[in-house]
Amino acid sequence: MKSKIMVLMMLLSVCIVLTSGCTDTQDDSGTASDSDKKIVVVSIVPQAEFVEKIAGDNVDVVIMVPPGASPHSYEPTPSQLTDLSNAGMYAMVGSGITIEDVLMEKITDLNPDMLVVDCSKGITLQEMVAHEHDHEEEADHEEEHDHEEEHDHEEEHDHEEEHDHEEEHDHEGLDPHIWTSPDNVEVMVENIYEGLVEIDPENEATYLENKNAYLAELDALDEQIKVILSGKEGSSFMVYHPAWGYFANHYGLVQVPVEIEGKEPSVQDMQNLIDEANDKGIKVIFVQTGFSTVSAEAIANEIDGEVVELDPLSKDYIANLVKVADAFEKGLA
Ligand code: ZN
Repeated sequence: MKSKIMVLMMLLSVCIVLTSGCTDTQDDSGTASDSDKKIVVVSIVPQAEFVEKIAGDNVDVVIMVPPGASPHSYEPTPSQLTDLSNAGMYAMVGSGITIEDVLMEKITDLNPDMLVVDCSKGITLQEMVAHEHDHEEEADHEEEHDHEEEHDHEEEHDHEEEHDHEEEHDHEGLDPHIWTSPDNVEVMVENIYEGLVEIDPENEATYLENKNAYLAELDALDEQIKVILSGKEGSSFMVYHPAWGYFANHYGLVQVPVEIEGKEPSVQDMQNLIDEANDKGIKVIFVQTGFSTVSAEAIANEIDGEVVELDPLSKDYIANLVKVADAFEKGLA
């Protein structure tokens, strides 16, 4: 008798935990349970802006990598996985964001009916700014992606280790930060638009109109940045985390990263960077929220320069990129 009551009480408490867990999820994510709006999941904040510019209030957007977190190391929470299991569409960046590698393995089980849109479709990925290295582990990565069955038991042992290098080393040396250039964003916006029409064909006309209006804004942004940076072609800027490779490429600038292979530079690297900054007359070291500023500050000290913060993950994409272009214009050498 006593044990029966115990079991009942335990079951009851489990139920309470489960129900409260569910309610929390819905509140936290801001996905209204009472609406029949489709949920569109994105990986990073700027993508939420792109979806909202096209879809307005017609969908609910859920962001996987919250503001301030690094897309290279963030892992989804259980409540985010719940959002994902309820979503109609997931717009992945598609360029090798760590969280997407993790999620893609789970998506088929979580939500087999969800439309997965690859925003990088049609964009040519470029190499991360070169730092010579051998990376034997990369071979292991590929193998693991191919061997689904092996994954289940290997996961426990390999996960920790794998993350250490995957963190800063997505897609085998290719630069994942495609959204830092407006011409790439135009492609991303087209891909998102096509996905939205597929999951919500009723609103196609609205989405088409909104998409074209935003594309026009992005064109204007591109022109504005060209004006801001005119005459600066071939100039260099130094940045801790090299998130601006596509921007640099598009506007003819040279990005000099402080971070080496996702890690703090060695003493020798530091000396090389200081020499390079002095040679080129660089006076600004750019940094980004969520990344170390220690070595950037040390270099700035040595060259009598300053540290300036830029955010490649800002929500207001267009205004932010104008701000970034202005900052580069001042910090270029
Ligand atoms: Zn990054």
